[in-house]
Amino acid sequence: MASGTLAIGRLKAIGDDRFDLLVVGGGIVGAGVARDAASRGLRTLLVEQSDFASGTSSRSSRLLPGGLRYLAQGRIGLVREASVEKLRLSRIAPHLCQALPFVFPAWRGTGWARWKLALGVRIYDFLCGGSNLGRWSSHGRDELLAQVPGLRGDGLRGGVRYFDALTNDARLVIDTLRSAAGAGATVLNYTAYESGDPADGCWRCVIRDRLSGAIAEVRTRAVVNAAGAWAPGLPHSGVRLRLTKGVHLVIDRARLPVNDAVVLPEGNRILFVIPWGERVILGTTDTDYTGDPATVRAQADDVGYVLGIVNTAFPAVGLGPSDVIATWAGVRPLIAPPRARAGTPSDTSRRHTIRMTDPGWFDVAGGKLTTFRLMGEQAIDRVGRFLGAKLPRSRTAALLLARPAHSGVLPPPVGPEVVADCCRDEWSVHLDDVLLRRTSWHAYHHDHDEIAGRVSDWMGDALGWDAARRATELARYRVATVADRTLP
Ligand SMILES: Cc1cc2nc3c(=O)[nH]c(=O)nc-3n(C[C@H](O)[C@H](O)[C@H](O)COP(=O)(O)OP(=O)(O)OC[C@H]3O[C@@H](n4cnc5c(N)ncnc54)[C@H](O)[C@@H]3O)c2cc1C
Repeated sequence: MASGTLAIGRLKAIGDDRFDLLVVGGGIVGAGVARDAASRGLRTLLVEQSDFASGTSSRSSRLLPGGLRYLAQGRIGLVREASVEKLRLSRIAPHLCQALPFVFPAWRGTGWARWKLALGVRIYDFLCGGSNLGRWSSHGRDELLAQVPGLRGDGLRGGVRYFDALTNDARLVIDTLRSAAGAGATVLNYTAYESGDPADGCWRCVIRDRLSGAIAEVRTRAVVNAAGAWAPGLPHSGVRLRLTKGVHLVIDRARLPVNDAVVLPEGNRILFVIPWGERVILGTTDTDYTGDPATVRAQADDVGYVLGIVNTAFPAVGLGPSDVIATWAGVRPLIAPPRARAGTPSDTSRRHTIRMTDPGWFDVAGGKLTTFRLMGEQAIDRVGRFLGAKLPRSRTAALLLARPAHSGVLPPPVGPEVVADCCRDEWSVHLDDVLLRRTSWHAYHHDHDEIAGRVSDWMGDALGWDAARRATELARYRVATVADRTLP
């Protein structure tokens, strides 16, 4: 134990324990690693410095794609890997993998000819082992306009329809952590990894409870660095990343009544219009980012860029900033390519890497939400080899994920029972934990302050908050979300 410090409260129980594995980071990658490790019998501790999924893993496009765009880049292995994982998730977590048809229009001059798209979606379905979530089809101009009312007909040469899936990124993290905890892992949010060094055949690591300020020393045989955009900053880390920012906007579906998701080509990138219950998600951007990953926000030019592209594709809609209900922005932790092959952000590969940089220290970086389970399996295969342990084979491809009644691709109805469950079973500590990540109510509903008021009362009942604490929580939530609501 570091001198002059005390392991109290949440840390008291673990301070004296020895672990096989410490996982740093409670995003989707850390959650997947912890689930795989615990289900193979490793004594596992996961620490997350803020709330679970508060990093990139609650700020994605909420899709489980094989990656049609990566096919065009010739990254066949990556597409095959993600396609297989997409189908696996549809089996182990059907509540978080809802088949979603995508219409990809072929406009003249975009470089996406109809014949090329038709060939691409055929190969795409083939890479799913011929059993994608739905079958592709190719359509002429008039059929496509009937399928997507309001789409720009000028220069349209038809298009294709293919299938990927809609998910709920933060719920995928929480339900994966619930599964990990069910298999015996200890998971702690608001607990930061501070330092660690090898000593006496294990790693002695210092962690800090950011709620109480208490710190504890933990002994573990191996450490997995799954700190996403923060990974390069951890001591012993060998991770080199290229961070790129992406923003999303939420609008009412009544303003843009699409039945299918729509792909909008823009230069070498594509954007999506994604139906989400009574709302539509628009996104995303892909620009280099050098700021603090914790404070990434949608800026005026990001919002203007996305709305401009959607308005060009749907000329009669005329969306403006006042249509936007909420925004979110995230940072992609992409593996940095060699400088000579840097290219644009969108050219940067979405592959993942697993590397042991010091004996017992593993960096697990890059990848996508879609491939998190595979990353967990491969990481624990490596950890097992290092530990010299004859671990059982990973079973995470077949084990069902935890499935609480309020978890799904759409937010549950606003109500006190859901809030009580989030507090009792899902480690919710602050108001924004429930509004932003356990339920997505913040992004989905217009009346942010009214809902926040009700939820703070229900959380207060569940967690014993007095009036002052409720007011503090409301203020904290407003500060956390003000930039998402006050649009330029
Ligand atoms: C705009 C955008 C759209 C995307 N869309 C998709 C999509 O549709 N489908 C898809 O498959 N992928 C998508 N992705 C990619 C995907 O979201 C990410 O690859 C994934 O969420 C990264 O997860 P992670 O666990 O590595 O990082 P994170 O979720 O950021 O988790 C890392 C965690 O580590 C914690 N941490 C850092 N330092 C410490 C410390 N010292 N102690 C304890 N904890 C620490 C952080 O607080 C953070 O919560 C998208 C990404 C972006 C940005």
